[in-house]
This record gives sequence, structure tokens and C-alpha cells, in this order.
Amino acid sequence: MDRAELIEEQIKLSPSKSPKRFVQTGLIYPSDAELELIDDTIKTKDRCQMTYSLIKSYGLLNRIYIHRVDQCPAKTMSLAHSNEYLLALQKSKDEEYEEKYGLAYDCPPRDNLLERASLLAGTSLTAARLLTEKKRKIVLNWCGGWHHAFENKASGFCYINDIVIAIKTLQTFSKKIMYIDLDLHHGDAVEKAFKNSEVLTISVHHYAVGFFPGTGGPNDEEKATFAVNIPLPELIGDEEWVALTKYSIKKAFSIYNPDYVVCQAGGDALFNDPHKSLRVTQQGYLDIIQYLISTSCPLMILGGGGYNVPATAKLWTRITAMCSFLKVPDEIPDEDQFYLEYFPNTNLKESTTSDTAKKLPNEEFAAITKHIEEVFENISTFYKRKSPMKGPGKPAFRSKRRKLCFE
Ligand SMILES: [Zn+2]
Repeated sequence: MDRAELIEEQIKLSPSKSPKRFVQTGLIYPSDAELELIDDTIKTKDRCQMTYSLIKSYGLLNRIYIHRVDQCPAKTMSLAHSNEYLLALQKSKDEEYEEKYGLAYDCPPRDNLLERASLLAGTSLTAARLLTEKKRKIVLNWCGGWHHAFENKASGFCYINDIVIAIKTLQTFSKKIMYIDLDLHHGDAVEKAFKNSEVLTISVHHYAVGFFPGTGGPNDEEKATFAVNIPLPELIGDEEWVALTKYSIKKAFSIYNPDYVVCQAGGDALFNDPHKSLRVTQQGYLDIIQYLISTSCPLMILGGGGYNVPATAKLWTRITAMCSFLKVPDEIPDEDQFYLEYFPNTNLKESTTSDTAKKLPNEEFAAITKHIEEVFENISTFYKRKSPMKGPGKPAFRSKRRKLCFE
């Protein structure tokens, strides 16, 4: 199928969608050289290049705005990191920095690390600006999502916390930001960065003794008022993963009322990721993203983990298509430069059922549900105390801004 036939097929599949609906979705699209540098930095072979190539091959760029990246200045990177840490990135090849700042093992020192960090951070900073300037309703950035980088330490393949930088940029417009982390691993550094703020963090992840990063479990000692954790044992599939995550989002919109949503959609919870820890399918992720879109709240969607590269590229392409309100044919276009990498499964859709999933025991499901309810009760109490007459949530500017943004 050539490009013209492909586009014709797409239009046939989505005849009733008004083009007006597409203009509010933006995609952060680094240059080819930047994509190559990002892939080299994050050490997940060709993942960004494959994802953007697939999005392009499906003709999705015709339906969304693409945005080049503004590099993130050092001053803005210091929203998430100490000056000492940024200096360590600059001098990362000096041995004294390696141990102290986590620049070893999975985050090895690299040439020009500060510049690489500035590019990575810039992808999500650009996304945040597009939302605050009300230029886009949904912004996708498959180069972002580095949720393990701490103020003073690199960790878990993450050198720079683009998410914290993006949320702090959004915070100049609103305190009420919901961060939702779908990655297999706990969103530890984001939760920690906003522990004493009104940013709501929700993380659904695998939790087990000895499993990285070791936080976000049911017995975490210091629970923050605005943090929801959904720790799941091995082999849990879509059913509970989606139900518990949706329940948290539903509660968040009835009690907390965010002005922005930032979603880290790391693909390592997929059943065919090499971790093989959870059994989530593409459909599980799509259900959550669809639910977030249906709230009409300005939405930033980021990448993150995902170590089955073709599976992650397919997942993120399907999310991009969904955010473009477009259905696409299932067979991957054979003109895609990475076409052979998808063999033997050249279909975009992968399994919709995960027959190897285990059931979450009823008592664990009930315990997590109780935790979610407790967090939102505490949030409700927090806002009642703060503003007894108004009750929880609903800042005045939101409805006004939504009108400007969406109608
Ligand atoms: Zn991960």
C-alpha cells in the first residue's frame, strides 16, 4: 500500500470525524539528528526513531501538529535538580561524581551529558509550554517520561527528570496537576519531588521485594497526602490494572479536579516486555488514555520504559492515532524504514487478551481500593480545611480556561 492509498484508507475508516477535532493535538517531534542522539542516550536501541517512523508511515503527521524541541536552559533544569547535580552531569567523566550522583551502572557517564539532558528535558518543557499557551489540548512526547531521576541522583536509565520540569512549568498556571504513571516501575522520583505540594501523583506498577525501585509498596512508611500507589503482584493483567487505575482517575476528577493531566505511558507493563512482570495489553493502555481524553482536561502524554522496542513503538503509535481521533489499518506499511524489525508480527494490533494473566486476590484488590479511598478522603479534608466555604477543588479559572481551550 503506498502513501496515497494509505491516507485514502484512513479517511475511509474515519469518515465522520471533523478535521477541526484534530488541530488540538500536538506531537513533539525532534529532528532526525536529535532522535538519534536521544536513542543513543537512553540506550534503548532505535526506540524513538522506530516510534516516530511508524507514526509517520501511518500518515498520522497529516492529522496532528508537529512541534520541534526547544532546548531546556540550565536554569529551568534546576526546577528539578540541584546545581551540584547539573555540574556533575557536565563533568560526568570525573570519577568523584560517579558514585555520589548515581552516574554509573545503568546511568553511565557519557560525552556531553548536560547537553543530552537539556535536549531530553526540552522535549517535555516544549510540551508543557504548548499546554500553558493553550495552543494544544493534547500533547504527545515519546522522548520524555524519565521518572526515576532524583534531585541529586541519576537512577534507572534516567539522567534528567523532564516530568518534574514539565509539571513545575505547568504549576505557574495551576497548582492542581494530576500525574499518572502507567510504567511497570513505581514513579518514585516524581512522587518524591511533589511530596509536599498539591500535585496529585498516581502510580500503578509492579511491586515485589527486590524489584526496582523498591518503593510504592503497600507499607510505605511516609505516605504523602497527594500520592496514590497501586502496587500489583506479578502477572496481573488488564482487568485489575485498568479497573484500579480508572477508579483512581474517577475519584481524582470528582474530588481533586485537576487543571492539567500528565500521563507517563511507559510500555514495560506490556505482557510481551522482556520484564514479563505484568500482563497488560495495548487495549489496557488505550482504555486508560481514552478515559483521560474523555475528561477534556488538557493532557500531556509521555513515554518512559518499554524494552520490547517493536511492541512499544506499536503501542505508542496506536495511542498517537487515538489522540488524533483516527483509525488506522492494521498491517504495518511496508515502506516503513524499520519494517523488518516487526517480523514476524507486522500487525499494529497485538493480542487483545492476555491468557497468562493471574487474578488479583480479592483481599488485595480490596486493600488497594481502600487505600485509594483514604487518599481521596484526606484530599477532600485538606481542601475543606483550606477553604471551608467552597469545599474541595474547582478553582475559578478552570472552567474559563477550558472554554478558551476547547470550544
Ligand atoms: Zn519502567
